[in-house]
Amino acid sequence: MTKRAYNFNAGPAALPLEVLQQGQEEFINFADSGMSIMEMSHRSAIYEEVHNEAQSLLRELLGIPDSYKVLLLQGGASTQFAMVPMNLLPAGKVGAYVMTGSWAEKAIKEAQLFGETAVAASSETDKFNRIPDLSTIQIPANAAYLHVTSNETIEGTQYKAFPETGDLTLIGDMSSDIMSRPVNVSQFGMIYAGAQKNLGPSGVTIVIAREDLVAASPKSVPTMLRYDTHVKNNSLYNTPPSFSVYLAGLMLKWVKGKGGVAAIEQINRDKTKLIYDRIDQSGGFYRGFADPSSRSDMNITFRIHTEELEKRFVQESEHHGFVGLKGHRSVGGLRASTYNAVPVESCRALAEFMSDFQKRNG
Ligand code: PMP
Repeated sequence: MTKRAYNFNAGPAALPLEVLQQGQEEFINFADSGMSIMEMSHRSAIYEEVHNEAQSLLRELLGIPDSYKVLLLQGGASTQFAMVPMNLLPAGKVGAYVMTGSWAEKAIKEAQLFGETAVAASSETDKFNRIPDLSTIQIPANAAYLHVTSNETIEGTQYKAFPETGDLTLIGDMSSDIMSRPVNVSQFGMIYAGAQKNLGPSGVTIVIAREDLVAASPKSVPTMLRYDTHVKNNSLYNTPPSFSVYLAGLMLKWVKGKGGVAAIEQINRDKTKLIYDRIDQSGGFYRGFADPSSRSDMNITFRIHTEELEKRFVQESEHHGFVGLKGHRSVGGLRASTYNAVPVESCRALAEFMSDFQKRNG
């Protein structure tokens, strides 16, 4: 078998080897059809089963109540930044956003194209190194919703608990931590996520929404950008990203086989502890970017005291089989993304490499 990299890519990211192997086995002849799933009509019974199974696995694993719809869309989470205000922000109302970093910023900027917005809380003065204190959140009286980014992929921060908004719709961009830990779906009106970190390859975007919110969209919204179009057509209004949905289904079965999201959460914690411990025990050689209270179990962001050493760290890591450790171009530094499919062995190897690098350069 070919050697697999220690893959710490931020997304698209590592997929479980078992999932890739099953995909390979079924690649040219799916379910005895004599063709690949990619060559099949999306109206066929075989595809429909794959489509419905992916939705029901999402329901089962996340404990999604029956009063919620599960949509399989395209356009990435970035399209949701627009669809949310287009569908859910009427004139006279305000879309409230918690500003936690780069992705929250993109979400609010897009909403500004469609209506009035407000920043309900922000950690910008701390360079987005933490999730703002939930008790400081101020929501305008005429808010249509409060939007949160559950995990900031670039800064490496993650909510440990979500704001209690009572009757106000809470919307969560969970692109980089969905399926990595249990979530109380009924606390949210809507959750959305691109698949390419914890759910499979890129190409499919998951929307989980309370049915009353997505039953009817404003008249002016284009057909493909209306939630009600996709609700009425079981996400088969047009051609879905069938191969991505199929692989996401395999990945969901893999999560189920691991014992579900609660078990996955523990595995993820054990993985990230190996690396955070390395940072904390380095006597300041490595400095975590995120405040410990907001540290992400998905994206570990850290720095070394000179950019030159950071560069050397990345270069040497590549020689040792590591991939994806350079921080996002907007913030620099180093980042290890440890999504569900990143094996503990990769994290152990990284912790060892970090110790070794420090010995040689400390
Ligand atoms: N939100 C978050 C938190 C993300 O990490 C990303 C992608 N890295 C996006 C939104 C944008 O997702 P997409 O590329 O699927 O549009």
